[in-house]
Amino acid sequence: MTFASLGLSSPILEAVAGQGYEKPSPIQLQAIPAVMAGKDVMAAAQTGTGKTAGFMLPILERLSRGERAHANQVRALIITPTRELAAQVAASAAIYGRKLSLRSTAVFGGVKINPQMMKLRRGVDVLVATPGRLLDLYNQNAVKFKQLEVLVLDEADRMLDMGFIHDIRKILALLPEQRQNLMFSATFSEQIRKLARALVHNPVEISVNPGNTTVESVDQWICPVDKKQKSALLTQLILDNNWQQVLVFTRTKHGANRLTRQLESSGIHAVAIHGNKGQNARTRALADFKSGSIRILVATDIAARGLDIDQLPHVVNFDLPHVPEDYVHRIGRTARAGATGQAVSLVSADEFKQLSDIERLITQSLTRKVIDGFEPTHIVPESRLDHHPIRPNRAKKSKVGHSDGQRSGENARGHKPSGKNKKHTSNRNRAGGKPGSNSPKKRQMPGENRRGDARVGQRKSHR
Ligand code: ADP
Ligand code: MG
Repeated sequence: MTFASLGLSSPILEAVAGQGYEKPSPIQLQAIPAVMAGKDVMAAAQTGTGKTAGFMLPILERLSRGERAHANQVRALIITPTRELAAQVAASAAIYGRKLSLRSTAVFGGVKINPQMMKLRRGVDVLVATPGRLLDLYNQNAVKFKQLEVLVLDEADRMLDMGFIHDIRKILALLPEQRQNLMFSATFSEQIRKLARALVHNPVEISVNPGNTTVESVDQWICPVDKKQKSALLTQLILDNNWQQVLVFTRTKHGANRLTRQLESSGIHAVAIHGNKGQNARTRALADFKSGSIRILVATDIAARGLDIDQLPHVVNFDLPHVPEDYVHRIGRTARAGATGQAVSLVSADEFKQLSDIERLITQSLTRKVIDGFEPTHIVPESRLDHHPIRPNRAKKSKVGHSDGQRSGENARGHKPSGKNKKHTSNRNRAGGKPGSNSPKKRQMPGENRRGDARVGQRKSHR
């Protein structure tokens, strides 16, 4: 199956070929024809499987045929939970649509609203937005939805986790009833299904990897260690193995800051990225990490969600997440698009419960390696793998609503989003093979060119 056989026309096919994509990924194979046919779609697939192109290519195809956006109008609206993701998705729209005369842009909080208003004035065919800023722009009459044809909720599950449900409902109320609705998510919880019932009509349901599974090419293991020894152990792992680009997850912003200081004091260049950081700092940190000038990026889940960093070799869970699905999302940051990667979790005795939940979710006992000199005095028990499905446990995180996509009033520092987007793109260029790269190299998705499928966990979906 080729992209051409899905009915995409040559300007889009050329852009796709320019990215080095050889053939559609499984999610793209199913999503592209459904979206092209104008159907509502609910699609679930693990991270790194190419969901963005799965909706963007057919949307661009459809939009290229109709009348362009009039002043302040939007034809396709894509809502994302975080600013970084909004910038990334808008960059993909620009890349896949570079041979088309469509306008696309991203709007999100934490930066000046005026330049965004200026861009909207001419009309935008593809608008990528975080919920809070979109509502602000609407309230200031900067954006109108009369011409709206398609709505996409990207990373819908995270959108709910981050408490955006009210904003989303407000946005839905502003849109014309007659429109196409697409929901993309890594996982499908009960909550998501509930939202979907109010949103999509007779949707085509696509689920490429049912349940929560981890990518086969990720080498996952855990280091049992005492809590107090974690940062010393991480320092040693980085130095002994000469890891050059590591994404480290901590559970809290405070924890991220503290760990960053500890790494820096050992001479390892590290930067924290989380919701309390200004947008400019976040953008710069991400760009520097992508380009290799920052060795360690310490992130909270929210900041890291949906980020596509080329060929990220190492992910470390400094703390285990409380929501087991987040483990799958976190390690989905490595071994993307067919590359291999390593995911290491530092686990202390008090995290036994989280560890058991994760092992149960992925139906796999994680390999343990005790590092010499870091033998734990508090033993982490072996978890018994039982195969009872666990109930979706999407913890309500009360405070996170402000950490991303925030309103313009807070944290407005006046950095121009356009420069930011350029930076994203140019760093992707440097990484090679990413959207924006001029030198197409062949790229594969996880699970291809391998016997069997990409799944590790065998549990059938119960969600
Ligand atoms: P998801 O949203 O499912 O997490 P993304 O859309 O961010 O995944 O895509 C992950 C990576 O895969 C990106 O770097 C993207 O450029 C690449 N990619 C997308 N489609 C293909 C394809 N058909 N072949 C090879 N690589 C692809
Ligand atoms: Mg995505």
